[in-house]
Amino acid sequence: MSSLANFRFHCTKCGACCKYPGLIVNVTPRDVRVLARHLKADVAGMLKVLGFYQVEPGEGQSQEDVQERMVFPALKTHRGPAYLGLLKRSTGECTFLAGDTCSAYPARPRICQTFPFSFKPAGEGPEISVARFAATSCPGIGQGGFVNPAKVKETGRLALAEIGEARAFARSWNGQPEGDPEAFKPARLVGAMLARKPGAPARPKK
Ligand code: SF4
Ligand code: SF4
Repeated sequence: MSSLANFRFHCTKCGACCKYPGLIVNVTPRDVRVLARHLKADVAGMLKVLGFYQVEPGEGQSQEDVQERMVFPALKTHRGPAYLGLLKRSTGECTFLAGDTCSAYPARPRICQTFPFSFKPAGEGPEISVARFAATSCPGIGQGGFVNPAKVKETGRLALAEIGEARAFARSWNGQPEGDPEAFKPARLVGAMLARKPGAPARPKK
């Protein structure tokens, strides 16, 4: 976006971004660790709030276009590559939505914290844009006071650092030898995320 200086935003707490069936709340290893601490959940507990999503490209789109929209790359699973995200109810709502509010607010994923903005790496700092869904459907845009550009940029820098860690995890996880399908089961994946220290390899201990 050309400038943040005149951008007004105030979340009206309508819950639309948490209810839209077409949105996947793509989570990173850091998000999984933060949520697990908040929920006091182990691997089995986390598997109750996470979903594995296989996303087909729309007409005229490629898998690269799909990847471009996601925060965190697809991960190999025993059923094929999938994006990791928060579980959705059959209505399309996020599993953490209670009425119109978030029941996991202090531990919500970074993508929820950065909404309605999205970020890409750029030379002098993050390139900031309004997320596709937000541009068309978020009633908070244009409401309230002006955003603080420095704060938004700092949020972007943080988000991109975490995405860097998430991509390193994905490279390491996806680089495992394919011979053993057990190695790609969801419980191993979530276990590797919970055990991981930033910068450590993704492979779980045998
Ligand atoms: S759609 Fe916009 S206004 Fe509504 S809850 Fe999400 S961020 Fe807030
Ligand atoms: S984690 Fe909370 S803020 Fe994020 S989509 Fe779910 S209900 Fe909404």
